[in-house]
Amino acid sequence: MADYDLAIIGGGLNGVSIARDAAGRGLRVILLEQGDLGAGASQASPRLIHGDLADLERRHFLRVRRALAERDVWLRIAPHLVRPMRFAIPAHSDERTSLHLRSWLLLYDRLAARNGLPASATVDVTHHPVGNALKRPFGTAFEYSDCVVDDSRLVVLTAVDAAARGAEIRTGARCTRAERGREWRLVTIDRGFRRIVTARAVANATGAWTSSVAETVLRVPPPKLAAVQMDQIVVRRLFDSDNVYVFQNGDGRLIFASPYQRDFTLIGNASRAFKGDPAIVTMAAGDVAYLCDAANRYFRERIEPVDVVRTLSGANMAMKPAGAPSPRDGGLTLDHGRGRAPLITVIGGDVTTSRLRAERAVSKLTPFYPMSARWTARAPLPGGDFAWDRFVNEVDAARDRWRFLGEEQARRLVAAYGTNVKAILGDAREPGDLGPAFGPELTGAEVRYLMEKEWARFPDDILWRRTKLGLTMAQADRDALTAFMAKGASAVRSGAC
Ligand SMILES: Cc1cc2nc3c(=O)[nH]c(=O)nc-3n(C[C@H](O)[C@H](O)[C@H](O)COP(=O)(O)OP(=O)(O)OC[C@H]3O[C@@H](n4cnc5c(N)ncnc54)[C@H](O)[C@@H]3O)c2cc1C
Repeated sequence: MADYDLAIIGGGLNGVSIARDAAGRGLRVILLEQGDLGAGASQASPRLIHGDLADLERRHFLRVRRALAERDVWLRIAPHLVRPMRFAIPAHSDERTSLHLRSWLLLYDRLAARNGLPASATVDVTHHPVGNALKRPFGTAFEYSDCVVDDSRLVVLTAVDAAARGAEIRTGARCTRAERGREWRLVTIDRGFRRIVTARAVANATGAWTSSVAETVLRVPPPKLAAVQMDQIVVRRLFDSDNVYVFQNGDGRLIFASPYQRDFTLIGNASRAFKGDPAIVTMAAGDVAYLCDAANRYFRERIEPVDVVRTLSGANMAMKPAGAPSPRDGGLTLDHGRGRAPLITVIGGDVTTSRLRAERAVSKLTPFYPMSARWTARAPLPGGDFAWDRFVNEVDAARDRWRFLGEEQARRLVAAYGTNVKAILGDAREPGDLGPAFGPELTGAEVRYLMEKEWARFPDDILWRRTKLGLTMAQADRDALTAFMAKGASAVRSGAC
């Protein structure tokens, strides 16, 4: 008998979502990720959980409605990771007319369920906080509700839930070769050791690597795909209000500028065709300038490429245009036959519809195994067992229990771990109870938790994915963190992850 019912190659959002869904339906699952969870395109998404105004403009009404329904699901199952925000589009006489924008947004409200998020509204920016950061000529803006998500933590917490339901999650495990018969035999290099894994079915969820893994590892005809690169920039905070700004760019694209980690602003996206090694995706100088120019059309405070403190780039696959579905839905294929064990290939797609995509992927295996019904829309992710409009109450409750926590620190911890923050802070009565401090925010207790429960192995896994504290941490603290993790690694190797 095969070791597993399903082996998933790739630990991005698509891979972990399939692992969670399948493990919860009773399948024996292993996920193989060559590096860290979410270290590919999934850490460089635009972080939006939305119906997508661009899709609305293309008159894809059913798709918008479906994505808005998914937005409600995310608010229900991940209230710590998903934040409702007011999005503001300043009206611009050179672009879409005010009438056009207003009618879009009324339709957007109609397509969404009544879930407690405020409806769209017209605001006079000369007398509204939204206007403070904008250049003078803007008189009107339109506000509407959508959400932003911590994309990297979404990946990790989905994997944590998959593991809690029995999936084996292997990071640092690269699949190098596969033989296909009535079952799959996969050769992996797992943290330096050769390991053979057998499985009744395989899912190729390797993002930008999909074609090369199909061709060289699985040795099946590669799907017809185009590689696309997506880029965003991070600059110091450009505005105080808690809005996401949506700018209409001269080329018809929508550019988003959102609050990022308290002191920064994230501006995106630029995108282009991608060629090269998906492990090394770098942003072109022209694209940095493009996003700076787009922001400078609207914000009072000018930014230049030299002000960019970090770029976020990722590559993924989109179906080639002829007959392809929308890139946001991604693609899904099932290949099987006599003596050929099933192979699912999942391609790209956006964050908002990732849960649904995984549900469909796993459902494709129902002819092959008995499995229980769909379930992921109802079960909260770890730490997400509270209502989304109680987030502030959770922060207050944390500050009541751990009185040494500052407002911002409590907010960061609850946003990252939800009710599981107690697993990190335990009975601590003062900061010293949490072990060494790496800067003002990160403690030994949190690092230990991330190594034991969330597969963090290297400083970057913590600084850029489990948290974003790499944006502000001083070099001396990084060095101390590196030494602390090196010491802790041998203890953790025999532990939970
Ligand atoms: C151009 C572009 C536009 C996008 N637009 C949007 C958008 O508008 N809205 C939105 O919400 N999202 C958007 N996204 C989506 C989002 O960033 C990701 O595509 C999504 O998170 C799904 O990623 P994934 O799991 O397919 O790929 P990835 O996150 O890249 O994961 C693939 C993983 O497979 C691993 N892997 C590869 N080969 C092997 C192997 N041999 N063995 C083991 N592991 C392997 C890699 O290390 C990697 O971690 C966009 C992405 C791109 C690139």
